Amino acid sequence: MQLLKFHPILKHALWGGRRLRSVLNKPLGPDSDYAESWDVADLPGDISIVSRCRLAGTSLRQLVESDPDTLLGSQASFGRFPLLIKFLDASKRLSIQVHPSAAMAGRRPEVTTGKAETWVVLQADPGSRVYAGLKPGVDAQTLREAARGPEIVDCLHSYTVQKGDCISLLPGTVHAIGEGLLLAEVQEPNNVTYRLSDWGRVDAHGRPRELHLDLALEATNFNLGPVNPVTPIIVDGDESHQRLVATQHFVVDRHVAAKAWKPADDNRPHVLIQLAGSSTVTTHDDECSLQLGETVVLPASRPEATVVSDEDSILLDCWVDELRIGC
Ligand SMILES: [Zn+2]
Repeated sequence: MQLLKFHPILKHALWGGRRLRSVLNKPLGPDSDYAESWDVADLPGDISIVSRCRLAGTSLRQLVESDPDTLLGSQASFGRFPLLIKFLDASKRLSIQVHPSAAMAGRRPEVTTGKAETWVVLQADPGSRVYAGLKPGVDAQTLREAARGPEIVDCLHSYTVQKGDCISLLPGTVHAIGEGLLLAEVQEPNNVTYRLSDWGRVDAHGRPRELHLDLALEATNFNLGPVNPVTPIIVDGDESHQRLVATQHFVVDRHVAAKAWKPADDNRPHVLIQLAGSSTVTTHDDECSLQLGETVVLPASRPEATVVSDEDSILLDCWVDELRIGC
């Protein structure tokens, strides 16, 4: 199977903007509310289509179904591509929300897996904030009462962020992305979102967006507490190779600067996301360039691949440890 690039799936929302085009070169139309670009997706109704070479026009779902061993390797039994990859342009702030854990899967039909998510900041306007986790002592009753008004913000741990910061949220963490942020997002393959508050906003037709207070409170893990940006861990003494996230949900490594390296030969699919500069991925029978804002999937069963990046490059390498999937 070739190296896989996909057409982006573009999403509108009242908090979106134009930076998916102006910074990441996504093919937007004229509207001013482009919020998300889904670059790798295998969800009902949102399925990525291959954009390059022999498999162009084939869907990721078709590839999972027709050749799961080649694409997913040791994760073939999962039956779905195990990651959802997005870019987000939060020109305005997003709702205060929470995503369920897999523990809700038996109780709610829309919950197929949990949804852990990790954000890596590509651009931040001065003073841009994120809201990540509840302050200590906030319980369900406090949150329910506060969610009726603007005082809900007092329940949330919040701080300003800058380019390069990484925030990793377990399912059940109450959160919001503040305005002025352009992010890359790595997630479990699920888009179930329960809104606690939309800051009192209405859409272009004067209507508020739906809230899901009871479900949000059910999905919230009140034991998780505040979440701060991750501290990168240097891998094998190589400062250009940093581990940002290693949870039961997925692993995210960051490779910076000019170098050549080989993705692990581990019979798992890997997703490479170019956050700055450019790279080239080469196997003995394929070669694929990656520019800022582009993503490539390396199938699990692949010839040895080499990644060569320029000196400005920042590249994420994301994969799932199948032993812990769905926890
Ligand atoms: Zn979220």
